[in-house]
Amino acid sequence: MTKRFVALHEPVLAGNEWKYVKDCLDSGWVSTSGGYVTRFENEMARRLGVGHAVAVTNGTAALHLAMRVVGVEAGDEVVVPSLTFIATCNAAVYQGAVPRFVDVEESTFGLDPAALARFLESGTERRDGRVVARDTGRRIAACVPMHALGHPARIDEIVAVCARYGIPVVEDAAEALGTSYKGKAAGTFGRAGILSFNGNKVITTGGGGMLVTDDEALAGRARHLSTQGKKDTERYWHDETGYNYRLPNVNAAIGCAQLEQLDSFLQSKRRLAELYRRELQGASGVRLVWEPADARSNFWMNTVVFESAERAEEIGRRLNAEGFGSRPLWAPCHRQAMFTSLPHADLSVTDRLWRTSLNIPSSANLAEADAKAVVALLRRK
Ligand SMILES: *Cc1c(COP(=O)(O)O)cnc(C)c1O
Repeated sequence: MTKRFVALHEPVLAGNEWKYVKDCLDSGWVSTSGGYVTRFENEMARRLGVGHAVAVTNGTAALHLAMRVVGVEAGDEVVVPSLTFIATCNAAVYQGAVPRFVDVEESTFGLDPAALARFLESGTERRDGRVVARDTGRRIAACVPMHALGHPARIDEIVAVCARYGIPVVEDAAEALGTSYKGKAAGTFGRAGILSFNGNKVITTGGGGMLVTDDEALAGRARHLSTQGKKDTERYWHDETGYNYRLPNVNAAIGCAQLEQLDSFLQSKRRLAELYRRELQGASGVRLVWEPADARSNFWMNTVVFESAERAEEIGRRLNAEGFGSRPLWAPCHRQAMFTSLPHADLSVTDRLWRTSLNIPSSANLAEADAKAVVALLRRK
């Protein structure tokens, strides 16, 4: 008998997914035309309280489009946290820009507004109306905070700091659908925000992503670029070099069905996080990452922080050996081979959180008994 393995995060496909996909197959509308794409966009925009949503093939494509439409160009720098999934940086690199890493906060795991202000204050200067990094001479073209693990960064402060320097903010809300800060949805604070519907996110379309914005012109430009920059469909005229980033209808059909279940996923995830919190109460040497003040998290991925890196590694091995999915956080971007030579300020919180944190099973349908078994392993001496 093979041992059962409890996944770190698995999708729940318990709603109208079959029905809507069958509808696509029966009607033949499986590709880039068909009603589900527009429906998915409209329902998402309404849900987030944002003016416009553009569905694309994945979250990374949405990030790339966002970089391009806010004006990131070759030779620029883009301020990002180093404690993020690599896609945040890659999107800047696709535009020929390089990342500028700034540290995160202990309490939110998100970009630290104070560290951001310090860098902009002492590390940049104005030259010909542009904000330029003193050490590299490159323009700071955008800032991309990331809402880590489903908890919002202090996004209002980040936006306010960037506004003082005229730097556009793109929110990487790939992990934060359903998260809000001071009553406003994550992804709707900056010039643009992006979501991911990869298989491990809060809702999935198989693969998919979305760019959201209140700026109609920006949305129009993103939509245009996502469909090969075509001007005249009938005669194949294109007025700029775009991409084939449009989300297929069959994926959007799954997305519509998933979105109908979002509230129930959020409820289950909150219940699971509360169970972890209750069961971990009084445990020494381990803390559960919790919803920041003024926030409502989606509790996408439950994370525990240990007192030492050794302890985190040991417990990670123990969990996996016992059949429970667990993983460290993303290896920090400033330590990735492509980026080690880039200048950056202090990243000690990033390094410490990376080495001492562990993600633990977080599926919306995780059984209570499994969650309790995980906690027992976390607490064992
Ligand atoms: C998942 C994720 C992405 C990329 O989304 P894809 O849909 O996988 O391309 C980007 N940023 C963060 C923080 C993510 O977690």
